[in-house]
Formats: sequence, C-alpha cells, structure tokens
Amino acid sequence: MSGHGLSKSRLIAWKQCPKRLWLQIHRRDLLEISDHIAQTFEIGFEVGEVARTLYPSGILIEDDDDLSAALNSTRAALITHPELPIFEATFQHDGVLVRADLLLPGASGYRMAEVKASASVKPYHIDDCAIQAWVLQQNKLSLGMIEVMHINTAFVYQGKGDYHGMFTNVNVDDAVFPLLKLVPEWIKEARATLAGEEPNIQPGLQCEDPYECPFKRHCNRHIIQVLEPSYTLDILYRMHAATKDAFHANGIQDALLVPSELLNETQQWIQRVSHAGVPELFPAAKNLLAAMSYPRYYLDFETINLAVPRWEQTRPYASQVPFQWSCHTEEANHHLKHAMFLDVSGNDPRRRCAEQMIKALGYAGPIFVYFQSFEKSRIAELADLYPDLAPALLAINGRIVDLLPITRANYYHPEMKGSWSIKAVLPTIAADLRYDLLTVGNGGDAQVAYREILHPQTPEDRKQELTLGLREYCTLDTLAMVRLAWFLQGIPINKNGSDTSNEITQKN
Ligand code: SF4
Repeated sequence: MSGHGLSKSRLIAWKQCPKRLWLQIHRRDLLEISDHIAQTFEIGFEVGEVARTLYPSGILIEDDDDLSAALNSTRAALITHPELPIFEATFQHDGVLVRADLLLPGASGYRMAEVKASASVKPYHIDDCAIQAWVLQQNKLSLGMIEVMHINTAFVYQGKGDYHGMFTNVNVDDAVFPLLKLVPEWIKEARATLAGEEPNIQPGLQCEDPYECPFKRHCNRHIIQVLEPSYTLDILYRMHAATKDAFHANGIQDALLVPSELLNETQQWIQRVSHAGVPELFPAAKNLLAAMSYPRYYLDFETINLAVPRWEQTRPYASQVPFQWSCHTEEANHHLKHAMFLDVSGNDPRRRCAEQMIKALGYAGPIFVYFQSFEKSRIAELADLYPDLAPALLAINGRIVDLLPITRANYYHPEMKGSWSIKAVLPTIAADLRYDLLTVGNGGDAQVAYREILHPQTPEDRKQELTLGLREYCTLDTLAMVRLAWFLQGIPINKNGSDTSNEITQKN
C-alpha cells in the first residue's frame, strides 16, 4: 500500500469530481453538510437497517470506529459461520477499505448485495459495486453474484415491521465484472489527485450528480455573476428547451427581443407586461370570484412520502401521507377564522386528518386550493382508505376551486418572471407576507422538518421549534391564497384579524 488511505466512498467522490476528493482530504474545514445531504445520509441508513431485518440470522460487523477490529470480526465470521449472511463485512486491499452491505452465502460463492435507497439502479451504483467487488476479489473471497438491492415502490406496507418485498434485487454482474480491471487505475489516479495541488475544476453539472457536493460554497466563491438580461428566455411560460436552444444559438438571450409572432398568447402577454413594466389584472377574475358564495374556505395540505413506509397501506416514496392542513374560512364580511391540523405524534395521521378536515370544511361553500390536482388526489386517497368517510370527502372534492388557473389567466406582474407559483405571485400582491423569514419556507423544508420531528433522537426543544415552523408555514400558505383572492377581487385587506381557536396539534 502507498499514499493516502482510500475507501469506496472516497473513490466515488473522486469519480464525481477529483477536486471533491482532494477537498475532502485536504480541506475538511470547507465541508458544509446541507440539510438535504444530511437527510440523504439518514434515509440511506434507515433503508440499510430495514434490509438487515430481512435476514434475521445475519451477523452485523460493528466496530465502526476500529478498522482492525472490523477486519478481524469479518474474518472470524467468514470462518466460523460460512452459512450465515454478513452485514457490513469489512475488507481492505492496497489501502482501499470497503464495507459490503450484505454478503449472502450461496452454492457458487457469496452474493454481494449493495443496498440503495433509490427506486432503480443508477450508473454510479455500478462503479460502487465494482470497487467493492474488486476489493473482495483481492481478498480471495469467492463472489457468485453481484446485486443492487433498490427500493420497490410498488411494495405496500402491511404493518408489524414486515418489510419483505420492499426491495428489488437486480443482478448487475454483466455491468460490474468488466469494470473490475479498471479499478486499480481509478485508485492510482485518485492517489495522484491527492498527491497534487487542488485541482482546477470549475463548478458544473457534476456538483449535483450523483450527489450534492458539500463543497459548493467553496467552489462558487469566485464565480462572477455573468450579466444576464433582466428577462431571460426562462420567463417565457412553457417554452420548449429546444426552442430556447434555437434562440440562444441565434444570439437571442433576452425574452424581450424574441419576435412576438413566434410566441404563443401567454408568452406574448408576459413579454408585453415585462416590456411595459406594469402589471396587468383582468376583471374576469373579479367577476368569476364575486359569483361565489360564502363562507369560503382556503385549504392547503402538507404531506410526507417516506423511503421506509411507517404506516399501513403506504408505499415507499409513492404515498403522499397528509400530516398537516391549514384552513382559513372567510365570512361574507371578509372576517377570517383559522383552523389547522398537525400530527407530530408519529402515529398514522390520516384518519384524524380526514375527520378534522371534514369538520372544518362544513357542508357548503367553495374550497379554494392552489393547484387542485394535489389536494384532490390526497382527498381521493383518503376516501379510498376510509370508505365510511368517503361520501364526505368526495363531497369536499366536489367543492374545490383552483385559484391557480384563475390567477394564471388574469394576472401577471413583471416580477413573477414567468411563474404563477404562489411563492412568485405573493411578493407582488402582499409584500408583508414573507416565506423567506420562516424557519420552514417551502414544501421541501416541511418534509425535512417533519422527518426530523419523527426521528426518535430529536430533542424536545428542537421538535417544538420545528412544529412551530410547520404551523407558521402552512398558515401562510392559506393566508396567501386569501390575500390573492382579495387582490383579484379588489377587496381591501381585512384588519379584523383572524381567529385561531380551531387549531389542533396532535403530539405524542
Ligand atoms: S462543488 Fe463541484 S467543482 Fe467543487 S468540488 Fe464539488 S463537484 Fe467539484
């Protein structure tokens, strides 16, 4: 062995970007683990633990912090229990350390299964397996088959901790074996990188592929903002990438310079408003909304889709389980009442979520949402799950009015830059309502916060902080819709305040 100690993850880091590996070893002080990266680790760990439950007789090689103990324990397990599965079997060759997720004994040698939290085999899994298999082969371990064990999103959890069926095992022998001969070269090149100066590599697509790189801030620190036109082609709503490429190829970067006859009606509208710098609001929105009855409801859900299903009849990644909703109710005098449901107990939130929502939404009156297919789909799923609640839930779906297409057809402000997302619209109509000041500022943050709340090791004060963040975020989502509806109708802001007496937070 010579040079720096390597591991499978370090070699994968080098394959992603040599500079990443260099920084990882020589400038660890620059590493910044984002919430997203931490979440990815956490999910990978959780999925690995579930995979092990499928082989209850397996031997886990622990000794995470003591390499020689892990190597010795692996040797001992291979000799004394050749008939048993081994988890985290640890091997080293030429200074390269690997830990195999699963080694399963078989008639023609061990089956090596790499457990992945993704829903399919990715190209970098093949490199990963090749490094692992090469080290195992150099240790004279007989390998019968190499598999990637990824999440099967069709699996439906039936409860009681039974995760049989949650993984799909894919034989990757044909892809991996031809790569084994390349591994010594990868090791050599990675060592050469580490022995040299910091590689001069500019940020690019590799910074997110296959993983978000934790050195992005360092690498982007000198990037000088290239002067772009105020309105790039991206503002031209739903313009095909190929069309944009063609304009770019002809030197047109500025949305205002695209010949208007080449644009559709919405794109022409965006171009006109952007050029004039004056927002436009059509009276059709007011007429449409004015015809609707009171009370009016404004509803928004937060949901979670877990890699490892926690509640019965849910699927990995595929089930959007609602754990929170917010509802503002507006009377004819524009007085607002607020109700909210949030379950942070860790129990299945769906039944109570549905029951409380039925209570909060009454029997009549429009229910405004923003992008109706999301809320309608969640409500239909709840109706499927709870047949006794189905009539009430489906009646709710029948009352839903989508504010998004009404807004998209009738209002545009130059600052929306081609987007009608509520986060793009709100600053132009209600600058006092700010997502950027919240702890939980978007739907992705809400999922991360909820996962952290459910984690058994999260301290109580942190759970409370996150719970408050979720409450503020979801409340703002529905208040934003209220203010949008008022704006479209020309109703001044109601200073009566809102009543929050109907808020429910289910704790453990
Ligand atoms: S941020 Fe990008 S360029 Fe910098 S080390 Fe990471 S992958 Fe390489």
